Amino acid sequence: MDIKWPRTGLGFDIHRLVEGRPLILAGVPLDFDKGPLGHSDGDVIFHALSDAILGALGLGDIGMHFSDKDPANKDIDSRLILEKCRDMARDNGFRVHQLDLNLIIEAPRIAPHRDSMLASIGRTLDLETGDMSLKARTHEGLGEIGRGEALACQAVVTLVPIA
Ligand code: MG
Repeated sequence: MDIKWPRTGLGFDIHRLVEGRPLILAGVPLDFDKGPLGHSDGDVIFHALSDAILGALGLGDIGMHFSDKDPANKDIDSRLILEKCRDMARDNGFRVHQLDLNLIIEAPRIAPHRDSMLASIGRTLDLETGDMSLKARTHEGLGEIGRGEALACQAVVTLVPIA
């Protein structure tokens, strides 16, 4: 891609929450009685971020590149997915410059884990804390997320050309 200006991507992910699955968010395991149902580990933060990077590159979505029909992706550590998307950006001449996240989850409380989640994202995308924002909120008891039956994440990512 011979493009010299920043590109922005939008990502979204939602997973059903069920008992007996580990809850992993941005690669950080949380102590909780439910976790996301999914072919992979169901890490909605890494999935939304990966989707946003692919969107910024105009390279489709996470389902096109990491099919849930592929046995190789079964229970995959979603950090590997994010790393591959980061590498696709680099191969196209871009790096992640800044990101913003909305995590929508009724429980558990995210605030005590926010810093470790940001550090985890920063390690993978080579970002400083000031370049990342993670806002967690509940769904005010409304709908599936409000009943604790699902969790979701929105991501916006800005890519800049590698100098
Ligand atoms: Mg997902």
